[in-house]
Amino acid sequence: MTNADVIIVGAGPAGLMLAAELRLAGVRPLVLERQPQRRNTPKAGGLGGQILELLRYRGLLERFEAACTGPVPAPRFPFGGVHLDFTQLTDPPLHALPLPQPQLEQLLDERASELGADIRRGHQVTGAVQDEAAVTVDVQGPDGPYQVSARYLVGCDGARSRVRDWAGIGFPGTVYPEVNRLAQVTLPDTVTVLGDGGLDVPGAGTVQAGFTRTDHGLFGIGSSPGSQVVSLYTIEDESTEYDDDTPMTITELQDSIRRVLGVTLPVKEASRLSRFTFKARQADRYRNGRILLAGDAAHLFPATGVALNAGMLDAVNLAWKLAADVHGRAPADLLDTYHDERHLAGARTTLHTRAQVALRRGHDPAAEALRQVFQELLADEQPLRRMGALVAGTDIRYPMPGTGHPLTGTFAPDLTLHTDQGTTSVADLMHTARPILLDLAGRPDLRQTARDWRDHVDVHTAKTDDRPADALLIRPDAHIAWAAGLDEPADSAMPPLREALSAWFGTPSA
Ligand SMILES: Cc1cc2nc3c(=O)[nH]c(=O)nc-3n(C[C@H](O)[C@H](O)[C@H](O)COP(=O)(O)OP(=O)(O)OC[C@H]3O[C@@H](n4cnc5c(N)ncnc54)[C@H](O)[C@@H]3O)c2cc1C
Repeated sequence: MTNADVIIVGAGPAGLMLAAELRLAGVRPLVLERQPQRRNTPKAGGLGGQILELLRYRGLLERFEAACTGPVPAPRFPFGGVHLDFTQLTDPPLHALPLPQPQLEQLLDERASELGADIRRGHQVTGAVQDEAAVTVDVQGPDGPYQVSARYLVGCDGARSRVRDWAGIGFPGTVYPEVNRLAQVTLPDTVTVLGDGGLDVPGAGTVQAGFTRTDHGLFGIGSSPGSQVVSLYTIEDESTEYDDDTPMTITELQDSIRRVLGVTLPVKEASRLSRFTFKARQADRYRNGRILLAGDAAHLFPATGVALNAGMLDAVNLAWKLAADVHGRAPADLLDTYHDERHLAGARTTLHTRAQVALRRGHDPAAEALRQVFQELLADEQPLRRMGALVAGTDIRYPMPGTGHPLTGTFAPDLTLHTDQGTTSVADLMHTARPILLDLAGRPDLRQTARDWRDHVDVHTAKTDDRPADALLIRPDAHIAWAAGLDEPADSAMPPLREALSAWFGTPSA
């Protein structure tokens, strides 16, 4: 007897996104989170990449934008030691939202709760075992220990995932020695913020504006004239591994500045203190039997700005597949495609974030030359667009069975659709996260075939400008599972469509 369909360990962005997507698919998730309250730790300052498009496809983007703490920034994105500068492009390939992680988690929590997810805080999972039918976990709750079972367990429990250990899944990779510390602080009146942005520190003299490199690391200041509130930044190579959940202190920041710069900087108070280290690690399997991994539990990347995108997209990819299994209609191997697709996506992100390590490390002439050559390449639109797609994760084409139309495996474009009922769009149709057969060429043969799956697949007929295919079969995660060629003879696409419907959505409706 199971108590939930899916147990999710961890109410971070990946776990909460998964809970909401599972509810959309009619599954009962139980989220177990060890922290008694939602965290206020200043981790990510924003969200970027393809997940923003997916949130728009779920009708959520406006709500997320309304919660942003600042205006949507001009599209410039740090990439190793250089910048991807999209300001000249009217349709940049990469977007970002300045949505600090605590606000993001609040929005995701609200969404999952509105949809009816059971989220229990103050419940730490201490062990997990699986058999052929279920996974059973030991939980230490506020009222003592208890056990709970479900068909599946998903470890969204972050970088130091215990679920990963219990599932016996390896996490190979590299730990880089840089420790980055970011702070926004108020300086006491004894420190003068100079007109050029530098600081006059009592007993230490002038600290120049911008970045200062020393033999011990890098120090940076961001300041506004007349304000005692400044941003501070240090990078040092250290051998210590930090737990991201252990809060950084003002003393830790001051010690770091002293080591890098040799200056004791007085600080009155801090409004933001955060620290991160860089690791390139990826779980060698995202699934072992009934236990799966998503988010930081599955991957860590050695650059900022991409982890949330990867982790939340894992959740979107996994949810509908788990739901199909729980509802007893998953085709064989459907759940294994989660590993195939998202491990591939994680490996792409590892590729470009490792390249960023090479680009930002080193200050000898060879390293500077590498950065300059790279920056020159990025002055041209085509390589700039390509890098933008790589960082956003939009260049990923999942491997799909069959010969394949060029659109199969890609994220469905947001076509404007003219129907008998009025104008709609692919984004509007994806709000419910139901699979869709979109007939764009008035093809009764295809609609008839898809009607055999009417309980699981919605069929829509529409006209669109610049029709990319006669029909698109779109999965709940907005990826195209199958496409009919333009103007191909009626009935010729029926057998392949039938195969695709069976491969992704199981046996036809009764
Ligand atoms: C300083 C800093 C800056 C960052 N900046 C960015 C950025 O700009 N952009 C970006 O995309 N990413 C950024 N990141 C990374 C981002 O914060 C993580 O990728 C993200 O939090 C991962 O989400 P997650 O849900 O996978 O895991 P987590 O957020 O780590 O959540 C895991 C949850 O599981 C819970 N848990 C763990 N073990 C158990 C257990 N046994 N039982 C119950 N609950 C458990 C934890 O308490 C936690 O709430 C940054 C990280 C840091 C530290």
